[in-house]
Amino acid sequence: MRLTAPRGTNDILPDAIPAWRALEAAVHAICHRYGYQEIRTPVLEHTRLFQRSVGEATDIVEKQMFTIATREETEDESDSLTLRPEITAPVVRAMVEHDMLKQRGFWKLYYVGPAFRKERPQKGRLRQFHQFGVEAVGSHDPLVDAESILLLADILRAAGVSKFEVRLNSIGCEACRPAYRAAVRTAAQERVERLCSDCRRRIDRNVLRVFDCKVEGCKTAARELPAIAEYLCDGCRAHDAGVRGALNDSLPIRVDTTLVRGLDYYTRTVYEFTSPLLGAQDALGGGGRYNDLVRHLGGPDAGAVGFAAGIERMLIAIQASGSRVAPAPELDVYAVSVDGGQRGLLFEVLRRLRDRGLSATMDFEGRSLKAQMRSADKLNARFALILGPEEAARRVVKVKNLRLQADEKEVEVSIDDVASMLAGR
Ligand code: AMP
Repeated sequence: MRLTAPRGTNDILPDAIPAWRALEAAVHAICHRYGYQEIRTPVLEHTRLFQRSVGEATDIVEKQMFTIATREETEDESDSLTLRPEITAPVVRAMVEHDMLKQRGFWKLYYVGPAFRKERPQKGRLRQFHQFGVEAVGSHDPLVDAESILLLADILRAAGVSKFEVRLNSIGCEACRPAYRAAVRTAAQERVERLCSDCRRRIDRNVLRVFDCKVEGCKTAARELPAIAEYLCDGCRAHDAGVRGALNDSLPIRVDTTLVRGLDYYTRTVYEFTSPLLGAQDALGGGGRYNDLVRHLGGPDAGAVGFAAGIERMLIAIQASGSRVAPAPELDVYAVSVDGGQRGLLFEVLRRLRDRGLSATMDFEGRSLKAQMRSADKLNARFALILGPEEAARRVVKVKNLRLQADEKEVEVSIDDVASMLAGR
């Protein structure tokens, strides 16, 4: 049987790596520019972390988690582990576990890494995908919300995503959302025949999720449901105005009163970045404020805001933008043995080159001169070092500059000097 990667997972082969590295470099550089520090947490977490944070009545927890029974597991299901379906809850768990908010009241953290969801795979929807995201924890200031939106926009622009849209909404807080939820529930009940079976269940369990449904009948029904704006309390209203005011004209934003997010922990600000360059799965990233999560996971009362964005989706959008493709990395030197007899000596030369900080490799298959030159080309080498028996006897090597066309591109250099000479180029 032919072995393949599991459905919905991808191998990232060497040719694809430059694009990934370029995007990751933009993420690191711009997060640093905004004063965010990197954090790395395990890929595995206790299942109950996600049940408690993402929410029992969400699609993710209901049907998308890869959960692993551990050997030492007791009958108690709460002992199981889950491959993280998102990374906000793990970051907050780590902050609480390490008492980080006792050391410093406010943290700006970012992460890059894989996440896992048992979804039906399609273009832009995978079972193992990669996210980067930020979490600013310890402030209620609406400027932090605005800053996180500007940061993601800067990353998209730096990475070469030419077209994207930002939608913004407030979903209120525990003070004003219950009345809103009740109003939506009443209105949804009046339209129950038009809703899909999932949404009918959602009316009682988690009615705001109806806004998220992709079924056509539910989408039109959702447009008739009450809008949150009329229900926001004064605090939420002021916060929302603060976010919009800070964004001002720096970024075109569309206020969308039907925007809710797929996770339970959001309060006040929610936002989503989409791109017309993507297909049906058009979300590049999304986030918002989650003022209750830190306390909920055993930490202090701490306002927090953040987003997560999908790397694979961004790469699709970058490609569709026709942005300059990240070049393959250069290899400084490919060492060529004319008749195979000089490989021991070349191996020695490679060591000297690497000691000087040059990247270098050689043929390990005993292939023809021509085949070795083809390898030099494929590996994007700047120089070929060519060693035959006659050169070896004189302890010299031919250095060929592969970036030049003409005949003058080849010189002979003493084996003892070649590393210092190339290190200078
Ligand atoms: P979410 O945590 O669901 O808000 O996801 C944040 C971002 O991660 C989305 O906007 C997507 O870009 C990306 N994403 C989420 N789920 C998947 C998936 N199954 N496959 C690929 N990318 C995903």
